[in-house]
Amino acid sequence: MSDPFQNALAFLNEIRKDLKETDKSYLDRLLKPQHLIKGEIKLKGKKYKAFRSQHNNALGPYKGGIRFHENVTESEVKALSLWMSLKCSIAGIPYGGGKGGVVVDPKKLSGKELEELSREYIRLIAKHIGVNKDVPAPDVNTNPQIMAWMVDEYEKIVGHHEPGVITGKPIEIGGSKGRDKATGYGGVMAMKFLLEKLKVNSGKLRINSPISNFNSQFFNKPSSQITIAIQGFGNVGYFFAKIVSDEGFRVVSVSDSKGGIYVKEGLDPVATLECKNEKGKVADCYCVGGVCDLRNGNTISNDELLELDVDILVPSALENVITKDNAARIKAPIIIEMANGPTTKEAADILAKKGTIIVPDIFANSGGVTVSYLEWVQNRMGYYWEEEEVDGKLENLMKASFNTMWTRYLGLRENNKHASLREAAYIVAVERIIEAEKLRRP
Ligand code: NAD
Repeated sequence: MSDPFQNALAFLNEIRKDLKETDKSYLDRLLKPQHLIKGEIKLKGKKYKAFRSQHNNALGPYKGGIRFHENVTESEVKALSLWMSLKCSIAGIPYGGGKGGVVVDPKKLSGKELEELSREYIRLIAKHIGVNKDVPAPDVNTNPQIMAWMVDEYEKIVGHHEPGVITGKPIEIGGSKGRDKATGYGGVMAMKFLLEKLKVNSGKLRINSPISNFNSQFFNKPSSQITIAIQGFGNVGYFFAKIVSDEGFRVVSVSDSKGGIYVKEGLDPVATLECKNEKGKVADCYCVGGVCDLRNGNTISNDELLELDVDILVPSALENVITKDNAARIKAPIIIEMANGPTTKEAADILAKKGTIIVPDIFANSGGVTVSYLEWVQNRMGYYWEEEEVDGKLENLMKASFNTMWTRYLGLRENNKHASLREAAYIVAVERIIEAEKLRRP
């Protein structure tokens, strides 16, 4: 199923059976966004379609990033906003879900044009956003500089400082320490919480059903032998790679849109990023950072990366990359979904039967929005924390939501050995939204 919103709904409808009878009608409220803002941005004689989807605000203001990409569609923005509602809910932060996008290839714009596009986008949606209404942030191809232009434009329109209206800003104008690495860092935490539950390194598997896709050696490996492949080497993929390598795990493969590299002994993410910045693509960097052995390093395609024989696969680029066409060939027993929606429903079903454990996107990549929340809190009190304090708060929030998801997962598996962490996360997230809906709009 390649339509992103239909895919998101397929996952959502799957948990209908797990809800209380009286709650099922509330689920219907989540099947479409509450508001969809559509418009056109005119720039130098060209027109660019722009969207902002506000999915549900029962738990708090809409929250979600803005994507600049030539493949942005209305369906994608709606799906991403639905996932944001679920993500903020499972993360235990007081937000609903939103998402924005502009159909544009920003790499074809000059710096000045990119600034103008960013400011125009804010002029288009200004009356629909606000610190207590809808709080945008970066997503694919948008960054702190773009957030700076956007917050500046918003403040010009309203006539006063309002840093909390947009998160992911540069630190100099109200951004939070720790925000740049937060999504990757949270993903590494998610991976480690899972390994801890699975009791990797002690040879014991703590979940109560056979996991066919794991071989017994997996549970006795030291971290330095746990191999990881990461698709996407942008903000999320790079920080995941760097932090997980610093923690002693072995990143054997990374890629960007132009292809990837595989280095059996493990690659150096920092040197790889420096090389990518210099040469323009990861695929030209198989020989950097002291690992320059042609017998063990080679370039690979994005499709090959997904099918590598590694312990952990980390899709960190775009949605719909694990589909019914390649799911049967995915060898990694663990997938940490750092991109939003990388796995289609059909693929997830195939992988569940194989025993693959997927840490779902709505939890795995929630570190970013959680630190965005901490940025918003700091903006509102006008007092700023050191990075250690931000990191500690992120860890506490992620640990609490992981444990809630895991407990529900073990409960589901008592009746269904193919139950997934995604179902558990969706049930917890939806129940929380439904409780808020009942209190507000019975
Ligand atoms: P980014 O723009 O910084 O990086 C995207 C990376 O993906 C780049 O390396 C790009 O080359 C690569 N890529 C693009 N198309 C590709 C393709 N067809 N095949 C392989 N690689 C491809 O974006 P990001 O912020 O790192 O976001 C990546 C994913 O993580 C997205 O799904 C985004 O929604 C999700 N996410 C991001 C954040 C965040 O805080 N940045 C938070 C939650 C989720």
